[in-house]
Amino acid sequence: AAPGEHMIVVEDVHKHFGGFHAVDGATLEITKGSVTGLIGPNGAGKTTLFNVIAGVLPPTSGKVTMDGEDITGLPPHELFHKGLLRTFQIAHEFSSMTCRENLMMVPGGQSGEALWNTWFGRKRIADEERALRAKADEVLEFLTIEHLADHKAGQVSGGQKKLLELGRTMMVDAKIVFLDEVGAGVNRTLLMTIADTILRLNKERGYTFVVIEHDMDFIGKICDPVICMAEGRVLAQGTLDEIKANEHVIEAYLGT
Ligand code: ADP
Repeated sequence: AAPGEHMIVVEDVHKHFGGFHAVDGATLEITKGSVTGLIGPNGAGKTTLFNVIAGVLPPTSGKVTMDGEDITGLPPHELFHKGLLRTFQIAHEFSSMTCRENLMMVPGGQSGEALWNTWFGRKRIADEERALRAKADEVLEFLTIEHLADHKAGQVSGGQKKLLELGRTMMVDAKIVFLDEVGAGVNRTLLMTIADTILRLNKERGYTFVVIEHDMDFIGKICDPVICMAEGRVLAQGTLDEIKANEHVIEAYLGT
C-alpha cells in the first residue's frame, strides 16, 4: 500500500473464549504511515484483537488483510517475514544477556546458528556477527542508550527495557509494529523519549504503528487517528479530541 492507503483491514473479527465474546465483530482499517492509537476501557478486547492480528490467537471468525493479502490466522513467524511485528517483553531467559546481545538475538536478523553456515566456514559467521553487532550498536545509538550496550538487559530500568523492545523491531525491516502498553510503569521522561522514538521511526523509517496505551498525554502526542473499542467492537474513530467528545465513548468509560 502507498502512504495514506489502508495497510491492515480488519473485517468483522470475532474471538470467543467459550461463550465469552472478547472480540465481538471488530471492523477497522490501519492507514499506512499512521501512528494509530487503540484505546478503550479495560476488557474492551484491545489486546485480544492485537493477538488475533499478530497471529498469536486464531480468530473465531472474520478476516484480516495486509496490503490486500489475506493474513488471517497466519503464525507470528510468517507475519514477521511480511514485516508485521508485535513487541514482547524481554523474556526472563534473556535478562542475563547484554542489551547488545538481546538485539543480536532477533530472529531474521541472525543466521549464525543456521546449519548451512557450517559449510561456509567460520569466516562467514564471523563477518555476519560483525555486521549484526554493528547494526545492534546503530540501533542502540538511535535509541540513545548506546551506553547500555554491555549492561545486562535484566538490570536496566523499565523504560530502558521498553526502548530495547522497540529496538528489536529495528533489527529487521518492519513495516508495521503493534505496541501493547509500551508506556506501562515507565516514568514521564522515558515515556516521552519512547513517544519521540516512535515518531522518529514513523517519520524517518516509514514504520506504521498501532499503539494500545492508557496514558492520554502519550496518545495525544503521537496518535492520529485514535480508535476506541468497547465490548469487543469499535465504538468510534477520529482525533483524540473528537474521541473524547464522543458520547458513546464517554458512556463506555463511565460505565466501567
Ligand atoms: P483489553 O486489552 O481491552 O483490556 P482484553 O483483550 O485483554 O481487553 O480482554 C477482553 C476480555 O477477554 C476480558 O474480559 C478478558 O478477561 C477476556 N479474555 C482475554 N483473554 C482470555 C482468555 N485466554 N480466556 C478467557 N478470557 C479471556
